[in-house]
Amino acid sequence: MSCIFCKIVKGEIPSKKVYENNNIVAFYDVNPQAPIHILVIPKEHIESVDAINEDNCALVAEIFKKIPEIAEHAGIRGGYRVVSNVGENACQSVHHLHFHILGGEKLSDKMA
Ligand code: AMP
Ligand code: ZN
Repeated sequence: MSCIFCKIVKGEIPSKKVYENNNIVAFYDVNPQAPIHILVIPKEHIESVDAINEDNCALVAEIFKKIPEIAEHAGIRGGYRVVSNVGENACQSVHHLHFHILGGEKLSDKMA
């Protein structure tokens, strides 16, 4: 499996992790688009939001349950944005489900 996020999960390429448990991992984005930019992923390879189903949706719930804690531990104040790009038109570049947490400043009122 050549998926870059699967390699991060396995420790085959380095990442700056901010949270990890048996099912999910969060790490700083290598190319930040806000002062604080963290990615949260399931360890299981799921292609995108489009591939969320009955069998794997508990992982997504677990991610969203953890996001407020991850944001707080990262020192984000005053709010943040959670984004997931899905497919070509959204410019998804890594085809392993991930949620961007963006914060640390007043973000644009435009989302696209
Ligand atoms: P997306 O374009 O929504 O698929 O987001 C993929 C994100 O993964 C981008 O923001 C990249 O900067 C980020 N990224 C790619 N490779 C790495 C890596 N090795 N470590 C951390 N973030 C990465
Ligand atoms: Zn993967």
